[in-house]
Amino acid sequence: MQRKGWKWTYWAFDLHSTVIKPNYEAGNIPTEFYPLALECLRAISKRPEIKMMMFTCSHPHEQEQYLELFKSKGVNFDFVNKNPEVKTEQGGYGYYKDKPYFNVLFEDKAGFNGETDWAEVKELLITLGYMKNTLEEIAIIRDKVEDLYIAESGKFAFLNNTVMSPEYIQWLERKVLKNG
Ligand SMILES: [Mg+2]
Repeated sequence: MQRKGWKWTYWAFDLHSTVIKPNYEAGNIPTEFYPLALECLRAISKRPEIKMMMFTCSHPHEQEQYLELFKSKGVNFDFVNKNPEVKTEQGGYGYYKDKPYFNVLFEDKAGFNGETDWAEVKELLITLGYMKNTLEEIAIIRDKVEDLYIAESGKFAFLNNTVMSPEYIQWLERKVLKNG
């Protein structure tokens, strides 16, 4: 972002099967979030350099309900299904009337797995300095992972400053086993 000289980046979030577990009930919006999704969205929502677009096929009245629901959880979307800040300019390069402009996409239909992938998002957000680990998380992963891999402790020096949720531990174990 700094390299490109951009003031903002625009992050688009699908809801169903990405942030929220679908219930497939018309007229009753689901409100169960995937593990870690809300805390990641909250951290992203606090960044002044990121603008969030809800990118959803929900009906307009449901969009209002979702905006309220997320707001009550500390997540404030800037736009829904559009990005009014990047406009089509006469004679300009891009035409944004039908395809809203965004830089980052979270979308199950584009390969994001709501059940598992927020752990990696959290890790990235921690790397970027957008989120911090709790001491509790650090204690949990130390106990679980160090016991498992104590013999190779040199390889796991990074454990000191990484994320410690149960989902992350599972991911880390998979990663470690894969690399081991
Ligand atoms: Mg979806």
